[in-house]
Amino acid sequence: MEIKAIRGMNDILPEESGRWRLLEDTTRRIFSLYGFAELRPPLLERTELFLRGIGDETDVVEKQMYTFTDKGGDSVTLRPEATACVLRAVIEHGLLGKDPVQKLYSIGPMFRYERPQKGRYRQFHQINAERLGEDGPLADAETLAMAYDLARSILGREALLMEVNSLGCKECRPAFKAELEGFLASRQELLCSDCRRRMHTNPLRVLDCKVESCREAVRNAPLMDRLLCNGCRDHHGKVLEGLGALGVSCEENPRLVRGLDYYTRTTFEITAAGLGSQNAVAGGGRYDDLLSVLGGPQVGGIGFAFGMERMIMLMGEARHRETGCFVVTQPRPDIELASLALISELRSAGIRTEASPGRSFKAQMRRADRSGYPLCAILGEDEVKTATLTIRDMRTASQIKINRAAVLEEVTSLLADRKGE
Ligand SMILES: [Zn+2]
Ligand SMILES: [Zn+2]
Repeated sequence: MEIKAIRGMNDILPEESGRWRLLEDTTRRIFSLYGFAELRPPLLERTELFLRGIGDETDVVEKQMYTFTDKGGDSVTLRPEATACVLRAVIEHGLLGKDPVQKLYSIGPMFRYERPQKGRYRQFHQINAERLGEDGPLADAETLAMAYDLARSILGREALLMEVNSLGCKECRPAFKAELEGFLASRQELLCSDCRRRMHTNPLRVLDCKVESCREAVRNAPLMDRLLCNGCRDHHGKVLEGLGALGVSCEENPRLVRGLDYYTRTTFEITAAGLGSQNAVAGGGRYDDLLSVLGGPQVGGIGFAFGMERMIMLMGEARHRETGCFVVTQPRPDIELASLALISELRSAGIRTEASPGRSFKAQMRRADRSGYPLCAILGEDEVKTATLTIRDMRTASQIKINRAAVLEEVTSLLADRKGE
């Protein structure tokens, strides 16, 4: 019997993994420019961490977690998001005691039991960043700029939109919540059953609901921007100023919310053209109370997450171009053996090199072509005798003869020429 993968859990096949690696490498390069370091938490955590860290009335916690009892009788959960895990690690290892500013990122799989659809899976992947211990508006601006930088270097500037909002703070949000609750009460009949319950405990979550009738119901809901206290208004203005100075173009969107209670002030989302209605590739915001909710010090932070599947979908095929040299030999044991020194020399110089020994000349050429190698180095009886090599350009099928001793120089320069095209 054939055993298949679990629904919503995907293999990332070799033809796609190049794009994944490019996204991961770009992330590491850009985030390190901003002084962020990688923290790798485990995939499995105590269930309680997410009940506290996400909130037990969210869809994620109520319906989507992979939770089970392990053999020791503990309730454990495959992580549905990374922030709670990273903050748990920060608290557990006393990182803020060693350095009161922590700038951390993580990359990896998350798990949510959702109905699988295009671009949404039960095992999905995120890039996460958290910046702790800096409460000023320019820390927000820099963090948003880092997210924007990553999106821009992968997707290009034209297709991107960064939207920013402020959700207020403990001082000014209660008045907004009360006003929103009154508004929602007047349109109760339009709300889904979840929202009818949530509108009293956390009305902001209703603004986040994906049910169509709920989206309709909140179309004219009151907005936070009118009710911001002076401190929040000032903070928000300076975030926008900072983004301008960093060369990041953004738009204010007073309807942008994140439904969790501990989100404060700055919140943002990056959307990309070409994804239809699910066009957000990244989102995040400031959370000044989350660390203390999880048992840590009263230290604020700001963070964001990128959905990697969506980024990969948008990257397309074009960016992944193969490089390297395939070594084809006349199928004779002594010549094949002689080719190994050549192969080893090319690889030592950092050139991707493959061969397919023990097969016919034609089969080797076919494999070189199929694997996308731009160059072939051909080694036959004649080449061995004269200490030369034939180099074939796989696209044009033109061939040149070079000195065996000059192989590194020639191959490197030919590959560089192709890269420049
Ligand atoms: Zn405020
Ligand atoms: Zn709803």
